[in-house]
Amino acid sequence: LIRIARVSKRFGSVAVLNDLDLEVRPFENLSLIGPSGAGKSMVLRILMTLEKIDEGSVTIDGLNLWGDGGVGRASVPASANDIKAVRRRVGMVFQSLNLFPHMSALRNVAEAPVRVLKLPKEEAYARAAELLDRVGLGAKQGSYPTELSGGQQQRVAIARALAMRPKILLFDEVTSALDPETVGEVLGVIREVARGHSLTTISVTHQLKLAGEISDRICFLESGRIVEEGPPDQILYAPVNGRTRAFVEALL
Ligand code: ATP
Ligand code: MG
Repeated sequence: LIRIARVSKRFGSVAVLNDLDLEVRPFENLSLIGPSGAGKSMVLRILMTLEKIDEGSVTIDGLNLWGDGGVGRASVPASANDIKAVRRRVGMVFQSLNLFPHMSALRNVAEAPVRVLKLPKEEAYARAAELLDRVGLGAKQGSYPTELSGGQQQRVAIARALAMRPKILLFDEVTSALDPETVGEVLGVIREVARGHSLTTISVTHQLKLAGEISDRICFLESGRIVEEGPPDQILYAPVNGRTRAFVEALL
């Protein structure tokens, strides 16, 4: 579903991604772990079409987001139409809470389907209500973001992303801004989404136990390349690479 091939990304002389290869199968749940600055968020931002790359190619659901310009040549960006099509397929939930403050929870979830997908209002609002139920917020439809806890806001953000019916959902440290008591409720929702196996997910997290629970595969990233990847049992408890071992031992 996703193919990232030999991708390099630099800021000036600083290499952020280094000849990175990554493929993700349909309905796979993948986690990216690794030290700060490894390039994890950058991978997600590229898939969201928010960043350019310097070299390599990126294909999403058969759409060429970046074409390989050939050896030693710069990558070629997709047409505006293809970028739009990719954006329809990919949703993202960030660490920072970014709901529309002047809209109720229900409207936060229903707004984009009405505006972007052109769904009839009744249908969009009915689906938004269902999604809020699904994330355990059926009773909070009318609440504004300031009236919700951090964990509740993050669950609304997940419902909002799901409302766009993405094929691929990206989570970037969605629990790291939350206090420990509210982390669990959000993790529960992510777990439920991932285990549903109805969409493909990529999660960036420092919570290795969570990565273990929701992932079919974990990739350990360092200095812009994948050092080791494999099933959670291998990466978390029997890593082959010394760098991976040092990282997981420090965090588990
Ligand atoms: P963290 O765990 O801290 O979130 P990360 O693995 O998500 O780290 P990225 O955000 O992907 O790291 O950043 C990778 C590298 O790219 C970092 O060294 C960062 O400083 C650099 N970087 C990111 N955006 C820019 C930018 N706009 N200009 C210059 N450097 C940047
Ligand atoms: Mg990051």
